[in-house]
Amino acid sequence: MAKIGFIGLGNMGGGMAVNILNAGHELKVFDLNQQVIADICGKGAMAAASANDAATDVDAVITMLPAGKHVKSVYLGDDGLIAAAKAGTIMMDCSTIDVDSAREVVTAATVAGMKMVDAPVSGGVAAAAAGSLTFMVGGTEDAFAASEPFLDNMGANIIHAGKAGSGQAAKICNNMMLGIQMISVSEAFVLAEKLGLEAEKLFAISSKASGQCWSLTSYCPVPGPVATSPANNDYKAGFAAAMMLKDLRLAQEAAISVGAKTPLGEKSRDLYEKFSDMSADNMDFSGIINMLRDETST
Ligand code: NAD
Repeated sequence: MAKIGFIGLGNMGGGMAVNILNAGHELKVFDLNQQVIADICGKGAMAAASANDAATDVDAVITMLPAGKHVKSVYLGDDGLIAAAKAGTIMMDCSTIDVDSAREVVTAATVAGMKMVDAPVSGGVAAAAAGSLTFMVGGTEDAFAASEPFLDNMGANIIHAGKAGSGQAAKICNNMMLGIQMISVSEAFVLAEKLGLEAEKLFAISSKASGQCWSLTSYCPVPGPVATSPANNDYKAGFAAAMMLKDLRLAQEAAISVGAKTPLGEKSRDLYEKFSDMSADNMDFSGIINMLRDETST
């Protein structure tokens, strides 16, 4: 069994770290929030004094942080964990961040003799706790092979997407599809309501017809058809609208940087910007149907 440092024990990282412990590894943990450290130490982890301490004298490091600036500040520089870790340490950043920051950090780690991958995830808090995440992994074949057994402790699907940064590229492309599809499904249900077509009937038909997609069949934005969807729980996240907005912004930054035209991705970003401004912090992204309904009523 390996010694692992885990940094970032929030909604996602907390559950992932428990699965690392359950796989029998020795775990050193660090977070800025003392409460989440106390929670996981109660399950058998050891508290580290800092991110660097968590990365010192371990076989592997896993990070699950909010955004690119947090990942860069934790990994890079004389005070960063790349400087603190021993050569050969396997490093996995599972946060969703911009492609450029991911490449910068993987390059710095590789130059220092580490094996590093960007490994963002699909699947929410429930999948993190259940160990059923999908990992999209960017990095060399060697770094992928070294990280795969640890990712396997936390996920059901581990897919090598390509060179460094490709995991993040896959993640933002996937979530741009998701954002666009959630808006398209929401618009269709609002139109159906106005045409006098029952939501349950539209669901029964479209889930068996060419309109079907995950936003319809697994996460339907109207109450009723899918028991587990946040629509049945007052649109409490779930996957927060603010998180969707973050990913749509990352997709637009990436599209601009390579000159790709993504007009629906851009429009979806604008709609989620408006929706996030007017919603509570923990509003699920599928709640956008209510904003679209209100707009068509005026
Ligand atoms: P979160 O805010 O719950 O957790 C982030 C944790 O990082 C917090 O506990 C915070 O205290 C800690 N942190 C921040 N800066 C730190 C630092 N410098 N040193 C140590 N700890 C630090 O966020 P989350 O929901 O767990 O999401 C984490 C990442 O996973 C994000 O990039 C997010 O986009 C991605 N993601 C989230 C979901 C989801 O459903 N929540 C799904 C897929 C991917």
